[in-house]
Amino acid sequence: MTTKPTSNLSLPSGSTPKSKGKAARSATPKTPKIPNLPKLIKDKIYKTGQTRGADDDVIYQNRVGRNSTVLIPYAMWEKCCVPSEANSEYENSYIVLISPEEYFGADNIEAELKSNGLALGVNTLVFYETRAQWNAHNPDSLGWVKATRRRDPLGGNFVARISATTSESGGKINHGFTTTAMKGAGIRVYEYADTATIAKCRLQLEALFWSCADSHEVAISNGMTGEEAVLRKADNLQKCQDQNLFDLAQLIEARMLNAAGNTVCPLCISELSSQGFFSRLDQAEGRIVHDLTVTQLNLFHIRELRFGGLNHLPYNLGWGHHHCNVVVKDSGIIETLHWMKEVVERNLIDGQLPMVSNNVS
Ligand SMILES: [Zn+2]
Repeated sequence: MTTKPTSNLSLPSGSTPKSKGKAARSATPKTPKIPNLPKLIKDKIYKTGQTRGADDDVIYQNRVGRNSTVLIPYAMWEKCCVPSEANSEYENSYIVLISPEEYFGADNIEAELKSNGLALGVNTLVFYETRAQWNAHNPDSLGWVKATRRRDPLGGNFVARISATTSESGGKINHGFTTTAMKGAGIRVYEYADTATIAKCRLQLEALFWSCADSHEVAISNGMTGEEAVLRKADNLQKCQDQNLFDLAQLIEARMLNAAGNTVCPLCISELSSQGFFSRLDQAEGRIVHDLTVTQLNLFHIRELRFGGLNHLPYNLGWGHHHCNVVVKDSGIIETLHWMKEVVERNLIDGQLPMVSNNVS
């Protein structure tokens, strides 16, 4: 028996965030302009539509839209050839990356690729990642050129990212998608989301911000007026309800809200203070990390990202503690909880966790 969940995200009395119907329109000819969120939370929500960072020596693009060109390893082609049941195509196409072993080791690779709807230079590239691969099948000796475009035709046959070694002939080998304007061939396929999905996720993540018990006060202390906060929150709720993004039962089931309708961390399920969106992470003395963009609350994937299942979806993204997110990483929440239970149980002495005996001050 479950009690019907309630939400603190209720429409304020007298507010009409969206006028509907003729009568409403004539009574309120001008819909009020929806105020912006405080900058830090606005940026944080915006960035959820982007991929993670990538440095110059990897094949991935650095922090670009999740709707960018996806890179699909050849071995994953069958699993990843269509983005989802609902969508048959990636918005900005895809590039299949095949290893030199797979390419040169097959009896009739061109026919094999063709039977999968693939062709080298059209939607497929050979991807060199090791010096041994490079030496065994040197692209120069094959008359190959590096790829230059992310869409058909790709402008070449291969791409290379081989790190430097200490030996004399061991300089790094980076070819294809290395210029400032074209850095990185694409994004990890499992980070992909289409434009509409990105927008829905942003709306729902804003609703989770407003569902923190102290969001109203925190919004005001970060620059909004009370009136603006009420208006913005009501507008967000309306949009979420219009798109079925605020189903309390589903949000609770997904560990994003508790039964009281307040936002919780998906791992430790303690209620979140929306102040965590604005405060920098407390860093242990002596271990200062010079990354001031680290805040206490992070984007949390409920089901982890993996090949063959796009997970940047509504009802799968919550906010959680930075520390909890680090612990879960790619393992999954439930698996992490079981691991934590085992760790605690192994550490019990006579049923108790050991106490700190020597407090060094
Ligand atoms: Zn937590």
